[in-house]
Amino acid sequence: MSYDLDRIKTMLPEYLERSGIGITKRAASHVECHCPLHQDGTPSFAADLVAGVWLWKCWPCGVGGTVIDLHADKNGISRSCHDAIKGTAEVLGIPDNGKSLPPMTTDQRRARAAMNAAQNAERLEQENAERITDALKGRRVDILAPFLSSSWRADFWDDSPTILDGPVEDDARLFIRGLFNPEDVLWLGDQFDSGEASHAENFRTACKWLRLGNLPPRIAPGIFKSGVISRSDSNLIRSPFIVIESDDLIGHKPTDDNEREENKRLCAALICLCRDRLKLTLRAVIDTGGKSLHGWFDRPSDDALKALLSISQGLAIDKGVVTRASNPLRLPGCVHKTTGRKARLHFLNSNTF
Ligand SMILES: [Zn+2]
Repeated sequence: MSYDLDRIKTMLPEYLERSGIGITKRAASHVECHCPLHQDGTPSFAADLVAGVWLWKCWPCGVGGTVIDLHADKNGISRSCHDAIKGTAEVLGIPDNGKSLPPMTTDQRRARAAMNAAQNAERLEQENAERITDALKGRRVDILAPFLSSSWRADFWDDSPTILDGPVEDDARLFIRGLFNPEDVLWLGDQFDSGEASHAENFRTACKWLRLGNLPPRIAPGIFKSGVISRSDSNLIRSPFIVIESDDLIGHKPTDDNEREENKRLCAALICLCRDRLKLTLRAVIDTGGKSLHGWFDRPSDDALKALLSISQGLAIDKGVVTRASNPLRLPGCVHKTTGRKARLHFLNSNTF
């Protein structure tokens, strides 16, 4: 015999009702009624839903417990005997799983085996990821060391296939022209410009954006369906890029200019590692004007992306930014509120020629 005890313990109000005990006060997680255990002139029986379990208490009786305890006390049987559970379940009409359920069919058994296998695989993967993360954390400095450069700005600038010697005001246009096709529908706007009818104007084709005088401060890396108003994942039709960044490569969030600069130097090394060691195709590097760099890369194969995600935590890569093509990221020229500095484009490898 086996009963779903967790379920039974969520059903105290139903038990009271099924036992003909009128509930005198009822809220989502609190009920009161006349105590079924003593001659109760005023309702002194109260129960609260605590962490998914209904627990009752009667002050005059000086006792309390779960619905099973109530059934036991009410029927004068031991709280710990099986009849207490069985009796409660019968009042509630809950079947005895061990007895009343029909045997599993072959398909059900296969489905359960597949589910168990998937859960095991997931657990192994999780354990593996934790091991990798721990190993990488301890060696992060060593891993990044070969890619560190004090002249990372000049290095990116020298390496950039597109010559970036214009004013910062031109950067956003170069960036959009270099990475997107003219007919791609892009979201540009302020961080929260999404979800209302008026936000339809935040979704325009790249060529329409390029005709505007002043561009908004942020862009989402994905390509959207036309006619949408919300920057949600379900409105994306393509996610051609992934974006690598880290806010705390120095071990914590930078708080002053020196720390911000050091975090960016480490971000530059991280981006070079992804390009040179992991062989990802680097499209753009943006200095956000704050504490980090954004490395825009071509979205790699699913396997390569999975491998990257498995090391992301160990390398302090912001996992949410990597794959979410609907994130509002800083466009070059965007002014950073903390530092007052403008985001700058340091590298551009156009894919639209
Ligand atoms: Zn009582």
